[in-house]
Amino acid sequence: AKKWILVKHFDGFPKDSDFELKTEELPEPKDGEVLLEAVFLSADPYMRPFSKFRMNEGDVMIGTQVAKVIQSNNPAFPVGSHVISRGGWSTHTLSDGTDLTPVMADWPQDVPLSLALGTVGMPGLTALYGIEEVLGLQKGETLLVNAAAGAVGSVVGQIAKKMGCKVVGSAGSDAKVAFLKELGFDEAFNYKTIGSLEEALKKASPEGYDCFFENVGGPFSTVALQQMKDFGRIAVCGSISLYNDTAPQTGPYSHLTMIIKQLKMEGFMQSRWEHKHAESLKRLMAWVKEGKLHSREHITRGFENMPAAFMGLLQGDNIGKAIITV
Ligand code: NDP
Repeated sequence: AKKWILVKHFDGFPKDSDFELKTEELPEPKDGEVLLEAVFLSADPYMRPFSKFRMNEGDVMIGTQVAKVIQSNNPAFPVGSHVISRGGWSTHTLSDGTDLTPVMADWPQDVPLSLALGTVGMPGLTALYGIEEVLGLQKGETLLVNAAAGAVGSVVGQIAKKMGCKVVGSAGSDAKVAFLKELGFDEAFNYKTIGSLEEALKKASPEGYDCFFENVGGPFSTVALQQMKDFGRIAVCGSISLYNDTAPQTGPYSHLTMIIKQLKMEGFMQSRWEHKHAESLKRLMAWVKEGKLHSREHITRGFENMPAAFMGLLQGDNIGKAIITV
């Protein structure tokens, strides 16, 4: 088995020297255990902040993967079946099954299994819960989403369009903006080249925003809050622009804006609705099958390129879901 180890806790933007590739012989699976082989691995933004809270130096990098069962002493996971594993950045893992979820039964042949890490997986669920549970988005409302061409943001925009909302998306390249237009976003702009964010937000929706699906944080939020309508709702999903900061967050938010506009802001983690995951994944899959939810993937080939794929994600190289094939 090959594994990527976190050698040293990240200090600022991750560096090659923070990671080390190790090879180890795995023992035969014991009673109740299975041997897994990674098929698709995921690079996700949470790995950056969570590495600090949930990992020690010397641990295998955290992460999920779609894996194939190649040996099994556990009847719940037969040889040849696919699972979502929290085995981290490793090509092979032994598991007693407690950290595994079978990939949805009757997964359609014509839908790539890698979507189980994206649109029909954790990022898709995040988009759905942010819209339905946190924002309570209503037909006809105007929604703003940033990091809009990413795994979560692209699903957010499409669900909101499907609901009959006006959707404005912000992303970091012209190619991403073109992708958002293809997905049916009403307005999309490249926040790196527009000059004034305030002007861009006003132009995209002069009447303001009912809802803001927040993935980025930092100065973007400060400006976006000013463009909310009275009683606007903000779902704080991520703050990727701050994950590599070395100083404690001081928060650029304007309290006075929140008070005067009477805004409602709620942070959330998709895991809050774990009891709904199975049913929600079915809904997402149905929309994929009906052609109402399109997915793009940014695929990096080769397990040895995992750190590069992760660092690329943290600087916006990906359009759609960042996936690594072994
Ligand atoms: P994405 O696929 O959107 O990839 C990350 C994107 O973030 C990049 O492509 C880049 O897009 C943007 N980005 C990177 N660095 C910066 C920066 N310094 N400033 C502004 N934008 C930046 O990732 P996900 O869809 O997986 O995640 C999106 C957000 O949702 C993240 O903040 C993540 O932490 C959060 N999240 C939260 C969950 C929850 O339960 N709360 C669950 C899953 C994700 P661009 O080129 O547009 O800048």
